[in-house]
Amino acid sequence: MKTIGMLGGMSWHSTALYYELINQGVQQRLGGLHSAKIIMSSVDFAQIEQLQSHGDWDKAGEILAHQAFNLQHAGADFLLICTNTMHISAPIIEQKINIPILHIADSTADEILRQGYRTTGLLGTKFTMQMDYYISRLQHKGLNVLVPDEIACNKINDVIFEELCFGDIKQNSKQDYLKYIDDLSIRGAECVIEGCTEITLLVKQTDTKVKLFDTTAIHAEAAVNFALAH
Ligand code: GLU
Repeated sequence: MKTIGMLGGMSWHSTALYYELINQGVQQRLGGLHSAKIIMSSVDFAQIEQLQSHGDWDKAGEILAHQAFNLQHAGADFLLICTNTMHISAPIIEQKINIPILHIADSTADEILRQGYRTTGLLGTKFTMQMDYYISRLQHKGLNVLVPDEIACNKINDVIFEELCFGDIKQNSKQDYLKYIDDLSIRGAECVIEGCTEITLLVKQTDTKVKLFDTTAIHAEAAVNFALAH
C-alpha cells in the first residue's frame, strides 16, 4: 500500500471527512484491521484565507509547496491537496516535489464522464467558479461547465467562508444552495459538482433529484484506488 500525503486544514472540517472516508475505503477493500497509511500536514487556514482574499496566490503556493516538500521527505508516495480552491497552487507545488499530485478536478471529471454526463454545473468558492484553473481542467477533459451568476456566486462563497468552514450547517443556506442547483439544472446542467470540500456537509444527494458529484468523496476514493493499485 502506498503512503498518502495529505495537505489539509483547508478547512479542517473537510479534512476530517477525508481522513474518515480514506480509512473506511481501505478497510472495506482490505478488510480486518487494515487502515490507510497517511502522513498529514495540516496548515493554519486563517493564514491561507488571508492570502486568498488578498489575491497573494504566490505566497499561498509557497507555503503549500513547502509543506508538500516535507510530506515527500517524510515518505509520502503521492500528494492529495484536500481542497478544490488551493489546486490553484498545484503548478507551484509540482515544481517543488517529484511525487505525483492526484488532482481533484481530474478525478471529478473522470467520474462524471464515466457515469455518462457531459454538461455539469459547478458550485464552489468564487475562485473555483470564476477563475480559470479549475474550469479549464474540467473542459480539457471534455466537459461543458455552467456556473451560477455573479450574485449567486458571492452568496455561495459567503456561506463557505462564514458558515461551512466553521462547521456551521444552516437550513436557510441549504435551501439557497438547492435553489442554485435547480437553476443550473434548468439552464441545462445534467449534474452539479459540489466543487468545494465542505459543501457535502450542507447538501446531500438525498436533498435533490439533480445528480450531484461530491468532490470530497470522489477525491478520497481516488486516493484509496491509487494507494492500493500495484
Ligand atoms: N475547502 C474549500 C474548497 O474545496 C474551500 C476552502 C479553501 O479556500 O481552500 O475549495
